[in-house]
Amino acid sequence: MLKLYNSLTNRKEKFESLNEGLVKMYTCGPTVYYYQHIGNMRAYIFMDSLRRVLKYNGYKIKGVMNVTDVGHLTSDADSGEDKMEMAAKRENKNPYEIAKFYANIFFEDLKKLNVDVPENITYATKFIPQMIEFVRGLEEKGYTYKIDDGIYFDVQKFSGYGQLSQKDLSKKGNTRIEENINKHHPFDFALWKFVPENHIMKWDSPWGVGCPGWHIECSAMGRDILGDKFDIHTGGIDHKTVHHEDEIAQNDALAGHRVVQRWMHNEFLLVDGGKMSKSLGNVYTLSQLSQKGFTPMDFKFFCLNTHYSKKINFTFEGLKASSLGYKNLKNLVKEHFLGNSVVKDEVIEKYSNEFLQAINDDLNIPLAIGVVWTMLKNESKSKQIYELVCKFDKALGLELDNIEIEKKEEVPQKVVDLAQKRLVARQNKDYALSDRLRDEINDLGYSIKDKKDGFELEKL
Ligand code: AMP
Ligand code: ZN
Repeated sequence: MLKLYNSLTNRKEKFESLNEGLVKMYTCGPTVYYYQHIGNMRAYIFMDSLRRVLKYNGYKIKGVMNVTDVGHLTSDADSGEDKMEMAAKRENKNPYEIAKFYANIFFEDLKKLNVDVPENITYATKFIPQMIEFVRGLEEKGYTYKIDDGIYFDVQKFSGYGQLSQKDLSKKGNTRIEENINKHHPFDFALWKFVPENHIMKWDSPWGVGCPGWHIECSAMGRDILGDKFDIHTGGIDHKTVHHEDEIAQNDALAGHRVVQRWMHNEFLLVDGGKMSKSLGNVYTLSQLSQKGFTPMDFKFFCLNTHYSKKINFTFEGLKASSLGYKNLKNLVKEHFLGNSVVKDEVIEKYSNEFLQAINDDLNIPLAIGVVWTMLKNESKSKQIYELVCKFDKALGLELDNIEIEKKEEVPQKVVDLAQKRLVARQNKDYALSDRLRDEINDLGYSIKDKKDGFELEKL
């Protein structure tokens, strides 16, 4: 039985899809205004584990991941500048070029991490009509109001507001100084924002020229592709309190019922115990790790050794230890590939069950990796174990099936002939000839070691 945690109920629950054998799932994707850092990549490694475990359990997936190429402001709420416009100014390009450049790098990184990419990748700028239609729907139902800088969602009209983040509408807190004080409630959020003339990314709408709010993007793209009832929505824990709470409000207000059945969040990756920040100089990308000699798979292995719901403290010492562990693991896999022992069916069954239990217990990948270690270390070297690891790797995505078996290069016949002549010379105690033959062998790029009744040749 597959159990998955649900952030809405704060419980692990048995997973059953709405449609038999098919899981419809939405993942909040990147805002492509800069390089995605290794913390962001943890969110997609989590998505990868979830997709793989669902598939391991026999489900097909209809997945969506958005690429936010407009509408995400520098604050996650409704203030600040659009991140894309800001990057365009910084790099003296237009926002579409910025989006293309950073999205390409992002998808290359996913490939290097062997991440199972969702079936549908949706760029926000390609779904503006659907977003406008969504907002119109909310307007018709009376959930919106207009003020000087945009169209807002009225959270006090939606009775379920706060269900995910346990926010209490009566505790208003302070509206941040830079936010619009004309909002009816501090938690109200923009659905459509009017933008200044010089904004490059802007569209016509029934309310005036502007661009969509960040939250409506995910709601509209999810609805367009997955419909108004789907199984899972994922994202990083930072999105739980605002972005996802607001998505629920929009979705459920329009549909009149619960749209997303289960919310799942990955915890944060911290660096040296704290948040990554540019001022501390500790915002790393995958390519920066590569420059320091660590592969993307070293990083993935590092992440997978902690449960997705726990914080990870990233340090280079930790990554180094993981990298070593990963190499050792792959070496053990190789030994089994080359092994000739025969393993009993009960043994295979035992490990298969243990592995399945681990991954089905809310994606306990660290425990599942533990099962793999135990099996590889304790069982005599056998191809059956190798094949089982390859099967397990479908859920782990660690490329354990991709082992390099170095073929011993054949020594050229000419070198072997010289070595044989040298053996005879040594047996005849003709050391001058023997030395000359050694030099000739060395010149051809081989070293020769004398053994009791023979020799060993090795490439220099
Ligand atoms: P963004 O581009 O800011 O929307 O972030 C992309 C994804 O990365 C979102 O799901 C975030 O929640 C997630 N995320 C951002 N920072 C971290 C971090 N340090 N650790 C884990 N996930 C993160
Ligand atoms: Zn989102």
